[in-house]
Amino acid sequence: MAFPEHADFVIIGAGIHGVSTAWKLAERLKERGEEVEGRIVILEKSGIAAGASGIACGVVRNNYFQPAMRRLMAHSVDVWESDPEGLSYHPVGYMQISSESMHDDVGTIFAQQQAIGYESVFIEGGNACDSYMRGIFGDWQAQNITSVLHEKRGGFSNQTKTMYALADKVEKMGVRIITGVTVKGFETESGSSSVRAVETDKGSITCERVIIGAGPWARDFWNMLDLPKQITLKDLNGETHEGVDMWRYWQLEEGVLVVDPDLGKADDGTVAPVIHVDTDAALISTVDGSTITEDMWGIYYKPDWHFGGIQGGASPYKVETPVDEVQIDPYGPSSPEFVSGAEFAHMWVSALAHCQKRYEGLMPKYHKEASGGIGCFTPDSFPVFDHFHDNATIIADSNHGWKMIGVGHLIADEVLGETQELLEPFRFDRFAKGELHPVSNSPYPWS
Ligand SMILES: Cc1cc2nc3c(=O)[nH]c(=O)nc-3n(C[C@H](O)[C@H](O)[C@H](O)COP(=O)(O)OP(=O)(O)OC[C@H]3O[C@@H](n4cnc5c(N)ncnc54)[C@H](O)[C@@H]3O)c2cc1C
Repeated sequence: MAFPEHADFVIIGAGIHGVSTAWKLAERLKERGEEVEGRIVILEKSGIAAGASGIACGVVRNNYFQPAMRRLMAHSVDVWESDPEGLSYHPVGYMQISSESMHDDVGTIFAQQQAIGYESVFIEGGNACDSYMRGIFGDWQAQNITSVLHEKRGGFSNQTKTMYALADKVEKMGVRIITGVTVKGFETESGSSSVRAVETDKGSITCERVIIGAGPWARDFWNMLDLPKQITLKDLNGETHEGVDMWRYWQLEEGVLVVDPDLGKADDGTVAPVIHVDTDAALISTVDGSTITEDMWGIYYKPDWHFGGIQGGASPYKVETPVDEVQIDPYGPSSPEFVSGAEFAHMWVSALAHCQKRYEGLMPKYHKEASGGIGCFTPDSFPVFDHFHDNATIIADSNHGWKMIGVGHLIADEVLGETQELLEPFRFDRFAKGELHPVSNSPYPWS
């Protein structure tokens, strides 16, 4: 098939956001009795799920301290629940298990989940938490835990399976996905900044709208659109900061313990909720008994038949390389620079053993292949979903995004002219206006 000269909607990136935007756009056009064929094109430089969406842990949760994030996640969980089998989604629930410094924050999350009708239970107090957890896993032994938020919805999905299913779905609806095409820049209308054509290494495509779901490559598209590399930001105290970098990178630390995933099941034989533990208990090495840290630490994990073991991660670390010099390609496990190392493996497996006796001494089972990858974050570590230059839309999820499958749906509606209230708290002008999201006591930049 020839490379197209025009498409009404050009979507860049065949990750979760690009493909789910195409899904809703195609659905809406069909509802209006309009043609889809030839009107929506996804351009992807590599292959489907070649970016962050292909390496995500796949956790789907609502547990966010920020009300706007929670409402948005509840919307996305509805989308996951609309077709669990088709989306390879496992609705096993999610548990935020924390020590005292996070008790109040998590209590607030619980109260607000009740207010929006998101089903969860909240257990408080050391003894109550220990016995709740031992009711699920008899070998539970995590220390200093004083609150457990058990979200009955959410769980995890199998990233590449989900992505291939989604790609298949949109292609059947008439969307064209063209892989192996690299977008190089944009041609603007004369006398205006709106995008007239998308320039690629295979030629130019004129378009009415361009929608960018570029994950870690958000920085590059921001620059291609001539948006400011540095911004003015008003913080939560009303103080103004000039010259703040718009983007920064963090390395997401993840890995797999190669054991029979059944080892991670609950005592009653069911697949347990995704476990997320944040505690200030001393973390002792399961290898040599040394103290790894006495500071707050956090991990998450789940048995995963797609990854072939117990899969999970820990807090990310900030990439200190100046933002313009960060080498994104080759991405993920292929990167020579940004992969999870031995220090992470030691910490994570020791933390698993801290939580459950069954993982003690299992360091030799940690997989040896590279894992993890970088994410592109905004100045407040929350997404920017916004429209620029009249017809360019950016979905920059600040690495929150596998779970946010519903964002593409909301974006599709906005592109077709219906502003979505759920997206309003994520506009770019919040930095200048000082309308930032509240921050919690979690050790993660994304909670
Ligand atoms: C290790 C890790 C674990 C994670 N775990 C979770 C999790 O458990 N739960 C969760 O909710 N989120 C998780 N995330 C975050 C989540 O993966 C991302 O937020 C989300 O996948 C981003 O999706 P996207 O569609 O924006 O980008 P991507 O999936 O990265 O897709 C962008 C696509 O754009 C393409 N592209 C880039 N440049 C060009 C160009 N010039 N021309 C054409 N195409 C181009 C890329 O090849 C890529 O395929 C994790 C992230 C990482 C790195």
